[in-house]
Parts: sequence; structure tokens; C-alpha cells
Amino acid sequence: MLELNRMHPLAEKDHRFLWHPFTQMKQWMEEEPVIIESGHEAILVDVNGKEYLDANSSIWTNLHGHGHPTITHAIKDQLDKVAHSSFLGLSNLPAIELAEKLSVLTGLPRVFYSDDGSTAMEVALKMALQYWQHCGQAWRTKFVAFTEAYHGDTIGTMSVGGIKLFHDAYRSLTFEVLRASTAEDLQRLLQAHAGNVVGVCIEPLIQGAAGMKLWPAGMLAEVRRQCTEHNVLLIADEVLTGFGRTGTMFACEQENVVPDLLALAKGLTGGYLPLAATLASEQIFNAFLGEYHEFKTFFHGHSYTGNQLGCAAALANLRVFEEEKVLVKLQTKIGWMREHLKKLAPLTTRQCGFIAAIELGDFALEKQMGVKVCRALRERGVLTRPIGNVVVIMPPYCITEGQLARVFDGLAEAVRAVVG
Ligand SMILES: *Cc1c(COP(=O)(O)O)cnc(C)c1O
Repeated sequence: MLELNRMHPLAEKDHRFLWHPFTQMKQWMEEEPVIIESGHEAILVDVNGKEYLDANSSIWTNLHGHGHPTITHAIKDQLDKVAHSSFLGLSNLPAIELAEKLSVLTGLPRVFYSDDGSTAMEVALKMALQYWQHCGQAWRTKFVAFTEAYHGDTIGTMSVGGIKLFHDAYRSLTFEVLRASTAEDLQRLLQAHAGNVVGVCIEPLIQGAAGMKLWPAGMLAEVRRQCTEHNVLLIADEVLTGFGRTGTMFACEQENVVPDLLALAKGLTGGYLPLAATLASEQIFNAFLGEYHEFKTFFHGHSYTGNQLGCAAALANLRVFEEEKVLVKLQTKIGWMREHLKKLAPLTTRQCGFIAAIELGDFALEKQMGVKVCRALRERGVLTRPIGNVVVIMPPYCITEGQLARVFDGLAEAVRAVVG
């Protein structure tokens, strides 16, 4: 019996050598982890051969499923040519092609690459600050950000972030920002401080890490209007919302907004490789042009900036959108999700495109209700992660009707088993 209950040897090594993100490792080391070995479409398979539906798209990154042949082959083809060459002083094919595509899709002409959502936003913050220096307004140093915002885990992005649980421990490292909760707050802040403000950061349509909180309709357009009125930059963080997640290619499209700076990451490569992009307006880019000795250069870059494998994956991701009419088919699936959510009544639920959030109730965080529900869901073959008392369901777009039904039936059971 003891033999049978022994952990997988890799689980023991995981417990011995690893430190997982956003994880209380004491708790982690008390239970056997799921160790993923392979994946296909919306399914992940662990080292014991057990299959799970990937109901949070591998933390909001995967779009067309695992092992998609178009993306897989694009990465392999690129690997046969070259995996990586520096973007400092050199350029490369897929990075150029991808920049053109992103620029056409977003209406923003300049693409600066980095590696993940945090760095894409960090780049946006630094560009925005330096932009005003080049405009002869170096006194502008204040950023406006929203309550419960999440823009990443680096020092700069934590500064604009507003989630107490994640950010309070590191507050001594961060810079002060002007904090708004509503459009009225923003108006007041900008009326008082606009002359010292660099820009306003917002997650368009939905604040992800805050617990999938929806902005009121028109909020984004109103923020754009105020930024223009007060002549400050609008920095849109579409790390989560980009690439179809809210039902349109970009969330900004839904309120006809073009930001001054735009951060993209998670879905950029379809969830295959870490790559991010910060897109900038021509006006911002032009402000950095000058003679060498003026040192107007944007002093930022990473070892893997413009990585060919990542860019090849991202190009293939965009090709899948076109070839498989992904956005058209997604509208039907958004409808399925809406129907399934109705069945979870009387629980409070929210939906934005292909993102669903289910409120379990007002439990103390220590109770780990969300964690327990997700664990019960995992036993039913469905993987996702909670945000406190909120369970998030945001599957890859390739999920079938039957699979989506299994996700929501499993969730209803898990909630009954844990919450009652
Ligand atoms: C995930 C996320 C980030 C951070 O991206 P990482 O790739 O995890 O660094 C930033 N902004 C938003 C809105 C996100 O959801």
C-alpha cells in the first residue's frame, strides 16, 4: 500500500529543488504536485497519464490550444534557421515581419520587444517618462493608476499596481503614484495635477488580477477623452485582454480607443513562448529622435529582445487567427459560456468575452475557498486557479462545446462539494 502511495520521483525532486511563483511553499510541499508532461488542444496530460482540461489557458496565455501544428511547425522551422541573435545592432526576419503585423492591427506604428507582460509595461513607463523629458517637461514624473490595478511584478509595474496583498511587502521599493478608482476620481486628479502627470495606466475593459472586475461601459473611452483633454499619455495594458480574449482582437477596439502606449504579452505567441511588445505612437517615437550626442536614446533592452523563436511563434499565432477565422468562431463560444454561467445561479458571475469569473462568496482569504474549489475541480479533470474567492474560467479558444460543458458541470459539482 505504501508503495502505491509513494509520490512520483519527480514530485520529490520538485519539493526539494523548486520555488514556485505566488506559492506558499510550505503548503505546496505538503501535497503531490500535478506535473505536466504533454498537451494537445485544450488538454494537458500529467506524468501519470491523467488528462485535464486547461480551463485557464495556462495562466491566460494559450489561445488556440496546445500543440497547434501551425505554431509548432513555425517554431521548429525557425529553430532550423537560428534560435536567437541579438537585437542590439542587428535585426532579424520574424521580428520585422511581426512588427509590421502588430502595427497594422493596433494602429500604433512602433514596436519595442521585450520578454513578458511586466517588462512590456516597465518599458511603457520608462518611454512615457522620458518622452516628457524630450518634450522639455522633465517635471512630469507622476503616473496615474487605478485601485486594484495589476501591471506586473517588477518594481515599476508594482508601483502602478494597486493590489495590497501582492504589493504591500515591497512598497518601500516602489514610487508613489496618483490613485484613481473611477472616471470622476481621474477627472479630479487630472484637474489638480495634469501638469505633473506623465500618463494614465489602465487595463482596458477588465482588471484581471483584481478578480476579473469589469469597468463600466464607456470607461476606457472616457479615460482616453480625459487623457487627450489634459494632454497626458494613455498607457493601455492589454497583456491579458489582447488577441481576442474579450471577443475583439484588442479590447481597445470595443470603445474605439487608440492608446499612446500599448503593452502586449501573454497571448502574443499563442501561449507558446515568452515574448512581449510595447507599441508606441509616432509622436512618442519621434520625440526620441536626435543627434547621437543629445543622448535621447531609449536606454533599455534585454538579452532576448526580438527573439526569433518567439517572433516566429507570434507570426504563426496571427496566421491561425486568419486561417481558422478564430474571432468569428469565438463569438459562438462566448455565447456557450454565457449559457453555462446562467446555470451557476444563484452565484454571482461575470463575463467579458471568453473570460468568466465566478464569485464563491464573502469568505476570509485564510479559508482558501477558491483554492479548495479549484482543487475539487482538478479532481474532476479541470485545471484553473482562483483569485481569492473568485474562480476564473478562460479556456483556449479551441475548446469544444462538450469540453466547455465538462468545465462548467465540474465547477458546479466542485462548488457544491466545497461551499455547499
Ligand atoms: C499577467 C499580466 C501582466 C504581467 O505579465 P507577466 O507576463 O506575468 O509579467 C501585466 N498586466 C496584466 C493586465 C496581466 O494580466
